[in-house]
Amino acid sequence: MKQIYVFAEGNMEMRALLGGKGANLAEMTNLGLPVPPGFTMTTAACHDYQQQHALSDTLLAELDEHLQALEQATGKRFDDPTAPLLVSVRSGAPISMPGMMDTILNIGLNDQTVQALATLTADTRFAYDSYRRLLAMFGNVVYGLSESAFDDVLTAIKQEKGYTSDLALTTDDLKRIIQAFKQLYTDAGKSFPQSPKAQILAAIVAVFESWNNRRAVIYRRENHIPEDLGTAVNVQTMVFGNAGEDSGTGVAFTRDPATGKRALFGEYLLNAQGEDVVSGVRTPQPVAVLHEQMPEVYDQLAAIATTLEQHYRDMQDLEFTIEHGELYLLQARNGKRTPAAAVKIAVDLVNEGLIDRQEALMRIEPKSLSDMLHPEFDPQALAAHDVLATGLPASPGAATGEVYFTAAEAKAAHEAGHQVILMRQDTSPEDIEGMIVSQAIVTARGGMTSHAAVVARGMGATGVVGMHALSVDEHAKTATVGDIVLHEGDWVSVDGTTGHLYRGRITTTAAMVKESLATLLDWAKAASRMGVYTNADTPKDLQQALAFGADGIGLTRTEHMFFQPERLLQMRRLILAKDAEGRKAPLAALEKMQEQDFYDLYRLATGKSVTIRLLDPPLHEFLPHDLREINEVANELGLEQNQLRERMAALKEVNPMLGHRGDRLAVTFPDIYAMQVRAMMHAVFRLADEGVTVTPHIMIPLTNSETELRWVRRLVSNEIEQMTSAKGIQVTYEVGTMIETPRACVTADAIANAADFFSFGTNDLTQLTFGYSRDDVGSFLPAYLEKKILPADPFQTVDTEGVGTLMKMAIDKGRATKSQLPIGVCGEVGGDPDSVAFFDSIGVSYVSCSPYRVPVARLAAAQATL
Ligand code: PEP
Ligand code: MG
Repeated sequence: MKQIYVFAEGNMEMRALLGGKGANLAEMTNLGLPVPPGFTMTTAACHDYQQQHALSDTLLAELDEHLQALEQATGKRFDDPTAPLLVSVRSGAPISMPGMMDTILNIGLNDQTVQALATLTADTRFAYDSYRRLLAMFGNVVYGLSESAFDDVLTAIKQEKGYTSDLALTTDDLKRIIQAFKQLYTDAGKSFPQSPKAQILAAIVAVFESWNNRRAVIYRRENHIPEDLGTAVNVQTMVFGNAGEDSGTGVAFTRDPATGKRALFGEYLLNAQGEDVVSGVRTPQPVAVLHEQMPEVYDQLAAIATTLEQHYRDMQDLEFTIEHGELYLLQARNGKRTPAAAVKIAVDLVNEGLIDRQEALMRIEPKSLSDMLHPEFDPQALAAHDVLATGLPASPGAATGEVYFTAAEAKAAHEAGHQVILMRQDTSPEDIEGMIVSQAIVTARGGMTSHAAVVARGMGATGVVGMHALSVDEHAKTATVGDIVLHEGDWVSVDGTTGHLYRGRITTTAAMVKESLATLLDWAKAASRMGVYTNADTPKDLQQALAFGADGIGLTRTEHMFFQPERLLQMRRLILAKDAEGRKAPLAALEKMQEQDFYDLYRLATGKSVTIRLLDPPLHEFLPHDLREINEVANELGLEQNQLRERMAALKEVNPMLGHRGDRLAVTFPDIYAMQVRAMMHAVFRLADEGVTVTPHIMIPLTNSETELRWVRRLVSNEIEQMTSAKGIQVTYEVGTMIETPRACVTADAIANAADFFSFGTNDLTQLTFGYSRDDVGSFLPAYLEKKILPADPFQTVDTEGVGTLMKMAIDKGRATKSQLPIGVCGEVGGDPDSVAFFDSIGVSYVSCSPYRVPVARLAAAQATL
C-alpha cells in the first residue's frame, strides 16, 4: 500500500492516515491556498516503523520518488551548490498534540549549501542563522543533546558581545556558534551528517520515535488519546521567515481563542523562524500591527482566514510565514479555545448561518461548561490588593494558590495537598505535568500563543503570560518584581481576565452566565426530553441555579437547615427531651425557623416546582462529638453530663446509614415530620396571602414499601388537611418518595400506588446495591479503579449494569402502575454527563444536581436526544 501522499492527493477526511496536519495541508492545497509543496508519510508507515524499528525498503523507494518529484516541482535539488532544496520534517498525529512531538527545520543545509543559500538570497547572515538552527534542532531531536547546551552557547556569545537579542548576532558570530555547536556533537561522540539525504532519514526516524517520548505519552494519557494512533510525518519545502525585515512568521486565530470574539487575532515576529513565535523566547507583535507594516499581506491573510472558516465551519488556528513579502500558509486547524470562547463561537456560527443549533450543541463538551463558570475575584477583596505585576491575559479565570517555580515542585506540592500556581520564566512541553496540577500558570515571557497560553486555555486553567516585570529564578526558588521577592510556597492570586498578579489570597465570588451561554442553554432546553432541576438548601444556592436556568428544585435536604448554631440548639433540645411535652417548645421554635426557610425558597422559585424532603439523617448526627462539646451542650441544655451521655449512648448506632434514619424517623417521632409539614404549609399560606400560589412537593426519604409510604403519607396529609380546613383554603400538593433502596426498586409498582412522583437517591441506592459504605469507600475504591475492577467511581458515574438495571426495573414497574409518573434522579450522578445520557435512555423525566452542574446536565440532556 502507498505510504506517501503528495499534498494534492489528500483531503481533510484522511486524518487517520495523514494525521491532522497532513490532512489539512492537503485540504488547503486543494483549496488553492499558498501552501509550500511537500508530501506526507502516513501513520501506517509509522506503525510499520514501530514494528520493524527501521524504515522499510518500500518506504525508502517511495521516499526517493517523492523527493525527486519535489525537486522537479521546486526546481531545487538536495546538495545543489546553486539551488539547494531545503525541507522541514514535522510530526502530525490524527489528534492534535501541540508541541509534544518533534520537528526539524532547514534540512538540506550543510557546510556547502549554506553558502549557496547565502549567495542565492544575498543574505549571508540569514543563511548561517538557518544553519545554526538546524544544528541545534537536529542535535536535540536526533541525538538527544540537551536544548539548553545549545542555548548556553548562544547566551554566552550574546553576553560577551553585550547583545540583548538574537537579531544582533552577526554572520561571524553565527559562524562561531556553528563551530561551537559542532563541538557539542563531537563532545557527545556524534557528528552532524553533511548529506541532506542522511539528514532527512534521521529526522523521519526521530519523528516516528517521538511518538513514544515521555511528554507525548503523558499528554495522551491526560487527554485520553489512544496509544495506537501513531504519527504521520510531513516533509515540506522550506520558506524562510528569517530572510530579512521583509519576512516573518506568525500564528493567527480567526477568532479570539480566549473570548471567542470575531476578529483576526494572533501574533508574529519579523525576521524570525517557526518556533520563535510559539516558544515564548521572544515576545511577538499582535497581528493588528501587521496591518500597518504590510497591509497587503494582512489583507491576504484576512481573506484566507475567511475562506478557511467558511470551508471548515469553525474557528481556525493558522501558521503563516512571509518570505520577502510573499505569504505562505504552513498549517490550519480547528483552533484550541477556552470553554467560554467555545460557547460564544458555536452560538455565533449558528447566527452567521455556518452551522445549525444541533451542531452547536454537539460541539461543546458538557464538562467544560463548569470550567467556564469559573468564579471571579470578589471585587471588594480585590480592591484591597495592589496589582503586583501585569501580563497578557491568556486564559480567563480567577485563581489563588501557593507559588512554585518548576513543574516537578508544583507536582510534588499538589500531591502533598497544596493548591499550586506554577510560575516560570517561560514554559516548554516538558512542564506539562506541573501545568496539569496548577490552578494558574504565569510566565514572564511569551505571547498569547506561547506554549503556556495554549496549554492553559486547553485545560481551562487560568493563565497569564509575558509578565515582563517578573523575573523567575528557579534555582534560587524566587521570583522578583522590582524589590518584591516571592518565595516558593508564598500565596499569590492570578486574574486571567485582566492579566493581573496579586500577592496573597483573594476570595472569589459566584459566576455569572454570559449571554452566549444563556442562548446555548435555551437551545439545549428546547432540544431536551429531560428537565434539569437543582439540589438547593439555601436561597443562595437556588439563586445561582436559577441564573444557570434550573427548572426548579429537585431536592432540598432539610437537615442542612438545622446546622446553624441556634437551630442546632433547638434540635438538641428536641432530641434530648424526655417526652412529648418536652418536645413542644423546641418543635415550635424549629417550626418558625423552617417556615421562613421554606417561604424564602418558594418565593424565589416564583412558580417553579420546589421539592422538599423531610428529615433524613440519624438523629445522633446532631449531637456533640467531643468532650468539650458535650460539656458545653450539657450546660446549655441544663443537663448533667451523665444524662447527656446516657441519651447519646442510647442513640448511638453501629451502622448509622442503615439505622434509625429516613422515614423510620417519622414512624418513631411523627411530630418531627408533622412540624416540617406545618412549617411548609404556613409558608404556603403566607404566599397565598401575597397572591402567589405554591404547589408543595413533599418528598419522603428511604421508603421501602407501599405500606410504609402510605403510613407516612397519611401523617403528612392529615396535617395538611387539618391546616387547610382551618384556614379555609384549598392547596394542591404532591407527596412523592425517594427510591433509594433495592427493595423500593423491586416493589416500585406497589409503591407507585402511594406516590405522586419518584426521585432516585442514587447515592444511597449505589451504597446499598454494592454494599459500599458511602463514607468509607475512600479506603478501597482507588485500588479498584487502579486495578480496573471498576470502570469508574459508581458514586460519580452511575453503574449502569447493576444500579442502572434496578433503576430501569423501578421505572418500568412504577409506570406500569401510573403511566405518567414523574421520575427524577437527585443523587450525585444527576450532574454527570455520562450518567445523564443513560438516564435519558431509560425514561427518567428529570435530573437534579448542584447549581454549578445545572448547565453541564442541561447540555448533556440535550446531547442525549440529538
Ligand atoms: C441520595 O441518596 O442519592 C440522595 C440524594 O440523598 P442523600 O444523599 O441526602 O442521602
Ligand atoms: Mg439518600
